[in-house]
Amino acid sequence: MATKRDYYEILGVDKSAGEPELKKAYRKLAMKYHPDRNKGDADAEQKFKEAAEAYEVLSDPQKKARYDQFGHAGVNGQGGFGGGVEFDVEDIFSRFSDIFGGGFFGEDIFGGGRGRTRSRRTIGTPGSDMKIRMPLTLEEIAFGTEKTLKVKRQTTCEVCAGTGAASSSDFETCGTCNGLGEVRQVTRTMLGQMVNVQPCPTCQGEGRIVKNPCKNCGGEGRIRGEETIKVNIPSGVSNGNYITLRGQGNAGRRGGEAGDLIVLIEEKEHEHFIREGNNIYYDLGLSIPDAVLGSEQEVPTLKGKAKLRIEPGTQPGKLLRMRGKGIIGLNNSGEGDQYVRVNVYMPKTLSEKERKAIEALRDSENFDASNQTKEEKGFFSKMKDVFS
Ligand SMILES: [Zn+2]
Ligand SMILES: [Zn+2]
Repeated sequence: MATKRDYYEILGVDKSAGEPELKKAYRKLAMKYHPDRNKGDADAEQKFKEAAEAYEVLSDPQKKARYDQFGHAGVNGQGGFGGGVEFDVEDIFSRFSDIFGGGFFGEDIFGGGRGRTRSRRTIGTPGSDMKIRMPLTLEEIAFGTEKTLKVKRQTTCEVCAGTGAASSSDFETCGTCNGLGEVRQVTRTMLGQMVNVQPCPTCQGEGRIVKNPCKNCGGEGRIRGEETIKVNIPSGVSNGNYITLRGQGNAGRRGGEAGDLIVLIEEKEHEHFIREGNNIYYDLGLSIPDAVLGSEQEVPTLKGKAKLRIEPGTQPGKLLRMRGKGIIGLNNSGEGDQYVRVNVYMPKTLSEKERKAIEALRDSENFDASNQTKEEKGFFSKMKDVFS
């Protein structure tokens, strides 16, 4: 393998460059050496790959730390680059689709999301995925929120930057496989020679072994720890939805790729509201005078209390709509409404004075139930409407 150039030199940035600066530098190079613009130019293709490799390492805080500490030896074989294994152009597009996507070259031809591209040959052992439950209130779901989580997980050992070695000179080429990471077994069978290629058992396919393990992690490259993670919850999520945080699960062993953290959404029951899609329902109890005479009521909404006008003669069971007071749909797919269902409270005991007042209304013309229209009659006529 040819001597590698310094990653910072390739991107033309200095060591203190932050993510935006790295991205900008990489974009510029990717544009310049893009295969579509340099058809058949092998040198440009090489530079295109080189820039991707440099960005891949420097944009990842863990890999950057390893590179800063151990140079190319610290990240060799990482992410499918280096170690004699090259990423091809297609891999680069799929891996950095956020750079190439979004109409950067006119249209999103490289889009389709940032799927995890497993490298062909990785160092170490990948970390496992983790699942955590995330109970959310309807208010949090309605408008989206940011949650802070404390997660107990395997984290990268900072002393050795995940390599498991005490220093960069503590790596040794594996003698079993001569650094190839795989062993071949030739067996003779009736059908002829069979060649069986397997990961090297001595180095677990890494091609190198650690002579002197890091004291902090015992050579594992990771330690048990607790970390605080911020998760952005978009509005409109539902029970059973999950959010995958790539690379936020358990750290891999000896620099292996970290697993994912899967955040499972759970909707907490609300004391006032029932959710249906992006709409919410609320039961409002009214007194007879408030329903008959009309009134202004204060009702809870997802954003606090709001005034609701009750027209005189409002019927029990009537659904009042409060536009836009529901849940903002997933991916901003519009906002739901709040529906208020009117219940009228019938008193169970009456004072003498109250009884007289109601008695006086018994034969009053406007209180005659035969005035009720078909629509107002309620349940059975509504059922008929549904089935007719
Ligand atoms: Zn360590
Ligand atoms: Zn080996």
